[in-house]
Amino acid sequence: MKVYLNGEFVAKEQASISVFDHGLLYGDGIFEGIRLYEGCVFKLDQHLERLEHSAKAILLDIPISRAELAAAVCETCRQNNLDSGYIRLLITRGVGHLGLSPTGCERPNVVIIADKIQLYPKEYYDEGLKIITVPTRRISPAALPPMVKSLNYLNNILAKMEAQQSGYLEAIMLNDEGYVAECTGDNIFIVYKGRIITTPSSAGALRGITRDVAISIAEELGLPMDTNNITRYDVWNAEECFLTGTAAEIIPVVEVDGRCVGDGHPGPITKSFMDLFRAKVSLEGSMI
Ligand code: PMP
Repeated sequence: MKVYLNGEFVAKEQASISVFDHGLLYGDGIFEGIRLYEGCVFKLDQHLERLEHSAKAILLDIPISRAELAAAVCETCRQNNLDSGYIRLLITRGVGHLGLSPTGCERPNVVIIADKIQLYPKEYYDEGLKIITVPTRRISPAALPPMVKSLNYLNNILAKMEAQQSGYLEAIMLNDEGYVAECTGDNIFIVYKGRIITTPSSAGALRGITRDVAISIAEELGLPMDTNNITRYDVWNAEECFLTGTAAEIIPVVEVDGRCVGDGHPGPITKSFMDLFRAKVSLEGSMI
């Protein structure tokens, strides 16, 4: 495997950055997770736009242009002879002093890794996922905007470990007000009386690229779509529920906190979202 590191392609074993990088010392940096489907990078421009927005929010200057980053992403896939896979693009604050201040960090490090993807097992796409709500709350947007896809994921990692300790793969995180924020690594949608509802970023949701695709699918299907606060009660009583994420794509949820969602099987609306999503990945990518 060859890793892109600041304009060079280096062997996996040599792809390393300093222990004084603030990305390691403080989680000070940003990233994107992107999919490659059959030689096409899905929604590359949208991912790079979100990366730029994350950079702006944390006052980080990306050292190369969007076009150069796009070219680097595609070249990393080619260098690794990948046809389909997962791309991790990250930009760290760079090497600095031991203090918090990034003023001494002169050059951000740009890293691109392209690898095979580990998906949820197929049975969950057919039969649906069971999830729970975990005690760890999603960090408040007033503390760290959830729209920033930062290298500091401890909040989500703690929630993920709580899910795993209880034997679940994914979990709902609530915000400080008790509304549903999102899942540990996915956005959440419910179907209630034919309306599609997802949570707003003000509630603690990342503006997911797959979430945007799902919103556009709702429009295509002519289904009413709301971005609103929802509670656990709303999820328990939904007709259908599904999660969206770059790695997960669109995956049905059939049980939440021990309550069956709908009839306990993936619903027809979820299935049509999954079908339309699959059709889009082969049509709406940028060729590498
Ligand atoms: N929420 C969180 C916390 C995430 O980390 C992710 C990405 N894995 C998502 C939602 C889904 O976003 P996207 O569709 O852009 O992958």
